[in-house]
Amino acid sequence: MYDLIDLHTHTLACGHAYNTLYEMIRAAACKGIGLFGSSDHGPCLPGSCGELYFSNFKVIPRQQSGIRVLMGCELNIIDYEGSVDLKETTQSRLDYGIASLHVPCCAPGSVAENTNAYLGVMKNPYVQIIGHPDDGRYPVDYDTLVSAAAQHHKLLEVNSSSLHPLSSRKGARERYLDMLGLCVRYQAPIIIGSDAHCEADVGNHQRALALLEEIGFPQDLIVNTHVEKLIPYIPALKDRKENEEPNQP
Ligand SMILES: [Zn+2]
Ligand SMILES: [Zn+2]
Repeated sequence: MYDLIDLHTHTLACGHAYNTLYEMIRAAACKGIGLFGSSDHGPCLPGSCGELYFSNFKVIPRQQSGIRVLMGCELNIIDYEGSVDLKETTQSRLDYGIASLHVPCCAPGSVAENTNAYLGVMKNPYVQIIGHPDDGRYPVDYDTLVSAAAQHHKLLEVNSSSLHPLSSRKGARERYLDMLGLCVRYQAPIIIGSDAHCEADVGNHQRALALLEEIGFPQDLIVNTHVEKLIPYIPALKDRKENEEPNQP
């Protein structure tokens, strides 16, 4: 499978990753990633970037080292209604938003509470991706989650790092097996993310790809294979394409 997109990556700025934005972009370019996204953690995660970090992305060139660059955020879901930890005006300036549950920002709740948190955040127009919905500490009703993702036109992530044996998110494999079966039933597309916290892991989708291959998950439901497949989900890509069109031969 040709895989050219990685939108889930972190930089030095978030306090627990180890490379600069420019090192991450260069690593992506070297590995043949055609579309790279930086998605540092929102302010609620201890040691991460403040609101201002996310409000000044206009200074970052969106074409670097020969590849396209998007500047987003891995927003923290902070309650069971699906609220997130950036102001709406700041969210509106992002190229894209991933929304995830992390223990320091939202205590794990019941199945109904966790599911409700995801349902709430799916109504947020600045969130396009649900990050690692695989964490055994946050049990969810996958039938409700996947059907809602299809209905609200949001991408569910298959997070390669969650499948690492040392991941703090336990039981991801079993949860993905449930989720992916339902993705086929509801025709809900997924996006593979590396969740790289160092340049060595940029574009490292090995574990996710192995799982998808093992179960014969249909390639047409994986958006990583072509930027065109991602455009309907990420308005910033569509806007840029339309803006660029008059200059194209
Ligand atoms: Zn995360
Ligand atoms: Zn992450």
